[in-house]
Amino acid sequence: MRFRHETLPQRVVFAPGDAPAAVAAEVAALKASKVMLIAAPAEASHADRVGADLPVAVRHDEVVMHVPVDVAERARRSAAESAVDALVCVGGGSTTGLAKAVALTTGLPVVAVPTTYAGSEATNVWGLTEGDVKTTGVDPRVLPRSIVYDASLLLSLPVELSVASGLNALAHCVDSMWGPRVDPIDRALATEGIRGLARGLPAVAADPTGLEGREQTLYGAYLAAVAFASAGSGLHHKICHVLGGMFNLPHAQTHAVVLPHVLAFNAPSVPEAERRIAEAFGSPTAVAGLAALRETLHAPRALRDHGMPEDGIARAVAPVLAAVPAGNPTPVTAENLTALLRAAWEGSDPA
Ligand code: NAD
Repeated sequence: MRFRHETLPQRVVFAPGDAPAAVAAEVAALKASKVMLIAAPAEASHADRVGADLPVAVRHDEVVMHVPVDVAERARRSAAESAVDALVCVGGGSTTGLAKAVALTTGLPVVAVPTTYAGSEATNVWGLTEGDVKTTGVDPRVLPRSIVYDASLLLSLPVELSVASGLNALAHCVDSMWGPRVDPIDRALATEGIRGLARGLPAVAADPTGLEGREQTLYGAYLAAVAFASAGSGLHHKICHVLGGMFNLPHAQTHAVVLPHVLAFNAPSVPEAERRIAEAFGSPTAVAGLAALRETLHAPRALRDHGMPEDGIARAVAPVLAAVPAGNPTPVTAENLTALLRAAWEGSDPA
């Protein structure tokens, strides 16, 4: 066994029901005295609670998915005008993404308090959009110094969004198995991530008010993001990135729909990953395990339900082909990619 694995420096705190005290401790550890508290309007009540004991100098609630550059610029100006020395973000991937955009140019430390299962808090990847072009990059400044996971903050996330967001996390695990930099540690993290998500998500769907399922799902989502940050984007993420940018599709739902198709496409070519995924699901095959979980969760099925036009299938083929990672296990051609995109668009069973 010969490989090189990098573990990103970050403190992770699981504090169910206790985010205010846990976040205050993280901010004190940074010796910060002027905090910018970032949260979207839908996340405001959580931010009120988390921020109650913090030295908040300014609150910022202009949060837009995929972080348009003008939105990032306004947040950076506000941080500079208030001379803040730390950023605390309370929210989903879009809110974390805005904090990362501010950290990218200012170097300010971030304490992230996630309220979805997107996992951005555990990666050093930033994203910004200009018009319909999304640019992403890697920078150590955007990796939050600490994450505080408080499962009680997820109780308000509607079931449908919880399922889509949890399947987005599952996509991080699955795509990590054949990511361009995958190593045995990533595979181990991703396998345990799948176990956590496969246990947690059905519990969330059955009882959205239960803390246990929310916490299992957060645990799985964290491991998923750590594996993904190390392994890098595989075919699944490249497809979702292109489709999301071209047709302005909702992030989590797009991942939830595309995942079973990419798994069915790649699984036959990667027997070791297939076996690990199947075992983690407790199922005879990886594809059957994901199908059973999706059925239990009433998962989103078709991209056409989320705003993708039918002629988008043909339009997306060339840009996806240009983005396919070199080492993808199953060779991708215009023909098999078109079939995959059509199945995801119409919501048919994965081939
Ligand atoms: P989101 O942050 O846009 O949240 C979706 C909606 O749910 C928003 O309206 C939000 O305000 C609301 N919401 C969030 N938490 C809630 C809660 N607990 N209760 C009620 N409502 C709540 O969506 P997302 O899927 O979390 O994040 C998607 C974004 O994150 C995308 O832009 C994606 O590119 C980015 N992302 C980045 C990385 C990375 O590593 N850089 C990783 C994953 C996702």
